[in-house]
Parts: sequence; C-alpha cells; structure tokens
Amino acid sequence: MTIIANPGLERRLKSENTGEVLFDGFTRARYATDASSYQIMPLGVVVPKTVDQAERAMAVARAEGVTVLPRGGGTSQCGQTVNQSLVIDCSKYLNAILVLDAAEKRCIVEPGIVLDELNRQLKPHGLWFPVDVSTASRATIGGMTGNNSCGTRSLRYGTTRDNIYSVDAVLPDGTPAHFGAVSADLSELAPDSPLRPIAKSLLALGEREADEIAARFPKVQRRVGGYNIDEFVPKNTKHNLAHILVGSEGTLAFTTKVELKLWPVLGKRLVGVCHFGQFYEAMNAAQHLVKLRPIAVELIDKTMLDLARAIPLFRSTIEKFVREEPEAILLVEFDEGADENARRMSELVELMGDLGFSWDKIGAKWGGVVEVADPALQTAIADVRASGLNIMMSMKDERKPVSFIEDCAVPLEHLAEYTDKLTQVFEKYGTRGTWYAHASVGCLHVRPVLNLKLEKDLKAMRAIAEEAFALVRQFKGSHSGEHGDAYRARLRRGEGAVRSQHGVQSGQDRRRAEIRRSRLFALRPRIRRLRYEAGAGLVGISGRRFRFPGRRRDVQQQRRL
Ligand SMILES: Cc1cc2nc3c(=O)[nH]c(=O)nc-3n(C[C@H](O)[C@H](O)[C@H](O)COP(=O)(O)OP(=O)(O)OC[C@H]3O[C@@H](n4cnc5c(N)ncnc54)[C@H](O)[C@@H]3O)c2cc1C
Repeated sequence: MTIIANPGLERRLKSENTGEVLFDGFTRARYATDASSYQIMPLGVVVPKTVDQAERAMAVARAEGVTVLPRGGGTSQCGQTVNQSLVIDCSKYLNAILVLDAAEKRCIVEPGIVLDELNRQLKPHGLWFPVDVSTASRATIGGMTGNNSCGTRSLRYGTTRDNIYSVDAVLPDGTPAHFGAVSADLSELAPDSPLRPIAKSLLALGEREADEIAARFPKVQRRVGGYNIDEFVPKNTKHNLAHILVGSEGTLAFTTKVELKLWPVLGKRLVGVCHFGQFYEAMNAAQHLVKLRPIAVELIDKTMLDLARAIPLFRSTIEKFVREEPEAILLVEFDEGADENARRMSELVELMGDLGFSWDKIGAKWGGVVEVADPALQTAIADVRASGLNIMMSMKDERKPVSFIEDCAVPLEHLAEYTDKLTQVFEKYGTRGTWYAHASVGCLHVRPVLNLKLEKDLKAMRAIAEEAFALVRQFKGSHSGEHGDAYRARLRRGEGAVRSQHGVQSGQDRRRAEIRRSRLFALRPRIRRLRYEAGAGLVGISGRRFRFPGRRRDVQQQRRL
C-alpha cells in the first residue's frame, strides 16, 4: 500500500489545537482497516478530546478541501470507516453520559461511549440501552447511530432508530443543529433554524415519494440499507429529523450528542432451546415461534455447534444445553416474569408438538425443547451465540466462512424457502454455508465457505453475491438487515434489487440529487463511494482486500494537496 503523507494538513491540525494528531504510517495503517474486507489508507487521524476540538478539526479539513470520516469502534463490516479522508476518532475521549433522567428513562451521551460501558453505568438505575449488538464491548453509540445497529432482541426493542429521540450534529459547513421530532408545519423550528430548509426538502421528498416508498421498501423490520426517508412520508404523528442521520454512516453530519430511549433491565428469563432434525424445519418453525412473543429467537446451526464443541472454552456449555446431534437449534427467550414465562414455555412445548416434532422420531421431525432456567447457563449460552463469528472462524480449513451476504433479511414466511434456495446456490458453486443469528427477524448470518486465494472461489464469491441478492429481491427482503452499505453496495451492482428496493429512478437516484442539492451531502466520502458504485465495480483484488477504481486518481489528487 502506498503511504502518502500530507504535511500541510498535519501542521495545521497540530497548530489549531484539535487533539491528538496522528499522521505516522503506523497509525494510518491501523486506521486503514475496520472489521470489513476493505483497506484504504486515511490521510491522517485526529483524536479529539472535546467536541470543540472535533469541530476545529472539521474546520481545518474544510479549509484544506479534504473529506472527514467519523469513526467509533471501527467494527463496521462494510468499510464504513475506511476512506482517503481525515479520520476523526470519537472513541477515546468523547465518551461521557451528559444527562441521565432515570425517571423519564432518557439519557444524552457523547458519540464515543461504548455500549457495554453505557449499560454498566445505567445498571444501578435499573435501566439499559437494549440494542444489544454482539460487539457491545467495542461498539460506540455514535457508530451504532451511524449504522442503525440492531441487537439480538430487536424483535422486542427494535433497531437503534427506534430508540433515539434526537441527535445533535455539526453540519458540513460547521453549523451545529439539533435533529429532533418536528410537526409537518415545522412549528418547533425557529424561523432561522439551519434545519428548516433541510427539513422542508426532506418532507417534500417524503410526500413526493410516498407511493414509491410504500411499494418498494421491504416490509421487514431489519432494513438498514439506504437513508431512512420513509420517516418523512406524510403521517399524523411527528417526523423525527434524527432518522435521516441514523443509518447514514457518517455521510451527512458529525454527531456530537445522542439522546437515547432507555428501558428497564431484563428480568429473570426462561430460555427454550428448540432442537430440529433438519435445518429447513427450523427455518420453517421460526414464523410460528415468534407468535408466542419471545424477546429473541436465535439460530445456531450444526456447523457452529460442532465447532463450538471442539473449543474447550465452550464444550461444557454445549454439553449442558444441546441434546444429541441436532441439525439446528433455535434459542427462544422469554422475559415476562416467572408465571408468564412458565406459561409461554408450556405453549412452546405444545407448539413444537403441534408442528410435529418429537424426541421419539428420527429424521426431519426429530426434535423438542430443552428448558434452561439457570441464569448462569443462560449467560454461558448467550456467550456461545455472541461468539458466533469467532467460533465459525475456528474452522481448520484453507477455506473459511466469508462475510459478504451475511445480513440479508427476508420475511419470516419465506425464511425456509430462502435458506433452501441459497443452499442450492452454494452447492452449485461447490461450497456450503454456515448459519447463525437472528431467526426471529429473518436476518441470518450466513457465510459461504471459500478460499479467497483461489481464482475459482473469487469468481464464486461474486456469483453467489449476485444470486443471493436476486433471491432477496424475489422474496421482497432487505439486502442489509444489520451491517449497512458503504462499499458493499458495489457487490450488488447489476442486480438492481437494491436500487429498486429504494426506487431505481425516483427513489435512490432522485433522493441523492435532492439531498445533494440541500447540501446535506457535502461530507464527501459517500459521494465518492456512490461514484464508484456507478462505475465499473471491482477492478482487481489484492490479497483478501479490494481495490477500487479511481483510487489511483485519488492518490494523485492527494499528492497535490
Ligand atoms: C463480529 C461482529 C459482530 C457484529 N454484530 C453486530 C450486531 O449484532 N448487530 C449490528 O447491528 N451490528 C453488528 N456488527 C457491526 C458493528 O459492530 C455495528 O454496526 C456497531 O454498532 C458499529 O459501532 P462502531 O462504534 O464500531 O462504529 P464504527 O464502525 O466506528 O462506525 C459506524 C458508522 O458510524 C459512523 N460514525 C461513527 N461515529 C460518528 C459520529 N460521531 N458522527 C457521525 N457518524 C459517526 C462512521 O462513520 C461509520 O459510518 C458486528 C460486527 C462484527 C465485526
């Protein structure tokens, strides 16, 4: 990777008190990656100690004509936090709880606070922020807002979007603004509010595109791709302007404060471990199990169970809750108080019987429920599930489970057929998939097992992506139910589903133009990404990381800075 310094920018950032300014090759190389397959060297990194310093860094970037890329824990899987930009890392210092109103179950936090740390501080008040992402020990609220992250229990609590009251942010021109709920007449905004023109154009966009949004946006809870313009269609309740920032992946404004909706901490739970003799049967059962209104239904497939058994850390846990050799299990969790939990557990056992499962049978209809009431075992099981990625990656094979279609979501009634057809796609390309995660909302982490050192598997990767997204379109699902867009949008090139999902002509493209006109788009990283998307797509692959068309041009531009 070419390392290009930018001494002018660095000098200015240092002289204008912007916090830690890091332009050395080692630091830039560290920030050139996140949890995705992408790698792009940033211009440099600023770690501000205060919001004022972050704003000063943005002002310098503006003056120098370079793009800004906000970053939290850097756990994004689609390259959201890598670009040839000035990275502003919020995670080290911008991590305070600014206001806590326990009675009203609200708090205002800085963007860099890590979810586990927030919940640790909320626990004495009997509260938590329930968007329980697997990366809770790293993920920041700013990053969760940027990605509209979703937790294991999204069936009960929704996504980050559903749990945010307002966002304070700095617009690309340096203007601070409060994005909160407004009526259609914008009476809450002062006449000279910088948000007035933006809100007006968003509401106009929502009104004009209402039919298209109703027709084309997938009707699944897990849809985090694109911008949340559905918030702005005409309705009787207020429109929350914060929703345009939630899921915008740092492309519209720099978040300085987030006002969160808090919930009472979980009570004593009861978990039913539903066993299945066939994967298809488990997928088909999910739509019925959610009718018992559990707070989560999580899948673990046989591959993950077998791999976990081989890991000493997890072996004894697996032995305690898994009976015999299921092809898949669904962890069904209730949190309704002791009596109601017990009642629903009986219903679960009955339902599994009604669906034809019994421990006495063999084959597809073998199965039943193992009840787990012990909180310590429940925590151990949750740890196994949350370690899904690590467990899958322990596969001792040249081939590894590769993430590129792993958060598609389809309506539950199609989950069995979708997974079956996707399995056939994998077989066509000589591979198989590993499966786990959020069966409750039709969003499964599926990874085809591939060896990306082989040309044939690289080709298979591309083909599988295209065929998987075609299936998602067929079942009216969402291409991204968890991990977002960023550079991954290019993998959907030519498939049309993603674009049509948000409106080919009048949706995404017009929306882009509209937002650009309203100057929301002035933080340029996303524009650059979109330009790439419209271009030739991938032009080459270096190791496991992708290179992008235009990169060379960008490098030359950068040299001129
Ligand atoms: C193993 C693994 C498991 C995962 N499990 C889940 C899961 O269960 N659920 C889920 O939803 N996701 C999951 N993810 C994805 C990722 O962890 C989440 O999206 C997480 O919430 C991102 O938080 P972060 O702090 O790392 O954000 P980052 O990756 O640092 O940033 C995310 C986005 O937010 C933007 N951003 C950050 N700070 C600001 C700011 N101050 N202003 C404006 N924009 C900002 C960034 O520019 C970027 O676009 C997983 C990832 C991995 C690797």
